[in-house]
Amino acid sequence: MANVRSFVEPVVQQIHLPAGIAGPDELTLDVRCFLVGVSTGLILIDAGLKGSAAEIELALQRVGAQWSDITDVVLTHSHPDHVGGLDEVTSRTPGAEVWAGAPEVQAISSAVPLRPLSEGDNVRGLRVIETPGHTKGHIGLLHEDEGVLFVGDAVGAMEGVVARPPAPFTADAAQAELSLRKLSELVPRRILFSHGAEVPDPVAQLRELVSRGAGT
Ligand SMILES: [Zn+2]
Repeated sequence: MANVRSFVEPVVQQIHLPAGIAGPDELTLDVRCFLVGVSTGLILIDAGLKGSAAEIELALQRVGAQWSDITDVVLTHSHPDHVGGLDEVTSRTPGAEVWAGAPEVQAISSAVPLRPLSEGDNVRGLRVIETPGHTKGHIGLLHEDEGVLFVGDAVGAMEGVVARPPAPFTADAAQAELSLRKLSELVPRRILFSHGAEVPDPVAQLRELVSRGAGT
C-alpha cells in the first residue's frame, strides 16, 4: 500500500442481545475492531463477530489497503464478539501473526496457532498492557507514538459516557477493577473502546469512574 502513515480505522458491527442476557431489557450495542496503520503495514485489533470479514474489507477499501497489508492480528480477549470472525480473517491473511494474552490463548478457537503476549511486549509499536478481570488474559494495547489506548472490554462507552461492561460478562470483578485503575493511570491522547464511540475527556472520565468505585 502506498504512503503508509499512522491511522486508526474502526470497523463497527452491531450486536442484538435479547432481554435477560445483559440485564432485564433488550440491548443493542456496537462492537468495534480496529485497523491500525503503521510504517510496516496494518495491524488488526480484534476480529469482530462472525461475518466480520465483509465489514473489514470495506474498511480496507476506505484506507486504500488490502488483506495482504495486515501483518498482525492482536486479540484483546476470547469473547465471541471479538474472535468470532477470526477464521474468516486468517483465511484472508495467511502471512499474518495472530496474538493474544498468554492466559487467553487456550480459550480461543483458531485455525492458525496463536502467539502469546505478556505485559510490556510490543507488536509493531503497540505495547501490551495486561488487564485481566473481564477475562483471565484480557489485554489492552497502547500505541505509544500516537498516544492511542485500546482498552478492549476493560471499559466501554454509552452515549458519550465511560462505563464498566455489564457485570454478567465480567469473569472477576475485583480483578477487573484493578485493571481499570491501572488503565486510568495512563495519559493517552485518545481512548478507543471495543463497545461505544470515543467520548470527550476520556482520561478524566475514566479516572472519575474509578474514583466512584465498583458498581457505579
Ligand atoms: Zn468481552
